[in-house]
Amino acid sequence: MLPTLITDLNFEPLDLALTEPFAIATGAPTMANNVLIRLKLADGTVGLGESAPLTAVSGETQASTLEALHSVRQSLLGKDARGWRPLGALLGEALPKAPSARCGLELALLDALGRHYRMPLFAFFGGAGTGLDIDMTVTAGDEAHAASSARAIVARGIRTIKVKVGALSAEEDVRRMVIIRREAPGARLFADANGGYTVAQSRTFLAGLESEGVPLALFEQPVPREDWEGMAELTRSSRVPICADESARTAKDVLRLAREGGAHGVNLKLMKSGVVESLAMWNLARASGMELMMGGMVESTLAMSSAAHFAAGLGGFDYADLDTHLFIREHSFRGGLRMQDGRVDIGHVQAGHGVDLG
Ligand SMILES: [Mg+2]
Repeated sequence: MLPTLITDLNFEPLDLALTEPFAIATGAPTMANNVLIRLKLADGTVGLGESAPLTAVSGETQASTLEALHSVRQSLLGKDARGWRPLGALLGEALPKAPSARCGLELALLDALGRHYRMPLFAFFGGAGTGLDIDMTVTAGDEAHAASSARAIVARGIRTIKVKVGALSAEEDVRRMVIIRREAPGARLFADANGGYTVAQSRTFLAGLESEGVPLALFEQPVPREDWEGMAELTRSSRVPICADESARTAKDVLRLAREGGAHGVNLKLMKSGVVESLAMWNLARASGMELMMGGMVESTLAMSSAAHFAAGLGGFDYADLDTHLFIREHSFRGGLRMQDGRVDIGHVQAGHGVDLG
């Protein structure tokens, strides 16, 4: 039997308490209800994957993800894991509405292959680098929360702060930004509305920041995914770079954004699109001269480490929003990414993503 044949595949809930609700414009989960995937090869190698369905963003749940995983289990057993691209394409067809399920399987496949061939995933993805400077998020909340969160981020040595806006009025969000600027005067500031504003509210927000003297380095998904014209309008008129996240789920979306001038950059997330699809999106964004951010859903160190391998290995990323593992209260993994002073590093990983069960 070929040593890389898939001989077993198991899924189990991975429920992780958060240090605070991950509040964004569309919801505020207090737990990460994710799924752990174990994929076994004929030679005994086990690859680990994680699915992180974020209901507030994609509507996927832990239950729908488990169901999606079970629905494709039989079709994967007996397949050669070396065919990860055709297998990724097959999963894309079978599970178009379950990207986090698809992604978890792709991560388990690649981890198993990486362990089998003794190759770390950053090298597998291209070996461009082994580290990334990350931001950390101030979730949606009141002014006191914004102040204490900004102080805590600075204390960690992280120098870029991404602020979730769009849950309150644009004027209230401007006041939060002023407070964060005061608490973290040296930090680079991003704002992410998760589609929570209209074009007019986005303009009010940007004008408010300008009159308060708060410099904004990036404005992510100001208007809803469906408002392609609004994204283009803001991209034409804003001095702050506009980044598409919810509007960029697939390679087709990136093509549309590039053609219509719908964004200056795109936020890639493996959970949003899957690994194979994210590779196509990376290529399109690079060819179109768009900036790139690597992001994630509410992921543990397993999926976050995988995202770090993807982004560092491929290279070309201007921003890395890889912070959600810092919001997980406790977990039973060891290994994976290491963090120091706002930089994640995976250069020490010997094989796969490097995350093991503790
Ligand atoms: Mg976003």
